[in-house]
Formats: sequence, C-alpha cells, structure tokens
Amino acid sequence: MKTCYFCKGKIVNKRIRHVHHWGEEIIIFENVPADVCTQCGEVFFSPEVLETMDKVSQKRIAPKKSIAVPVFSLP
Ligand SMILES: [Zn+2]
Repeated sequence: MKTCYFCKGKIVNKRIRHVHHWGEEIIIFENVPADVCTQCGEVFFSPEVLETMDKVSQKRIAPKKSIAVPVFSLP
C-alpha cells in the first residue's frame, strides 16, 4: 500500500479535476488519474500523467470546452 510522502496517510487512486495555473491562464483538466492522500488531501501525479498534461496544455489539441473565469480583486 502506498503512503503519503508528507503525512504517511493512506493513498487512494482516483480521477480528479486538476486546475493548472499557466502564467495568466488557467487550464482545467478533468478525469485525471491521481494518487490522493485520504488524510491531508495532497495530490500526486505519475510522470506519465504530468507529461500528458504538459503536452495537451502546450499544443491545445481540441479542448472539450472553454469556460470564462471571473476574476475578482479584493479591496
Ligand atoms: Zn498526506
């Protein structure tokens, strides 16, 4: 069984939504396979998954959809 690098909690594999900040841009990945710590919530991606997200975000191959993201600045 895998344990969390930080808190030694239990790691489960699941598909998550990952929000990636790319400079001024935000890219959302859905259905991303990740190892998630059940204790602290830390998310770990495999090198393959990271590479895939890197490729897709650079090449912009057919995103499923685009959404507008409101930005608020607190006074
Ligand atoms: Zn943890």
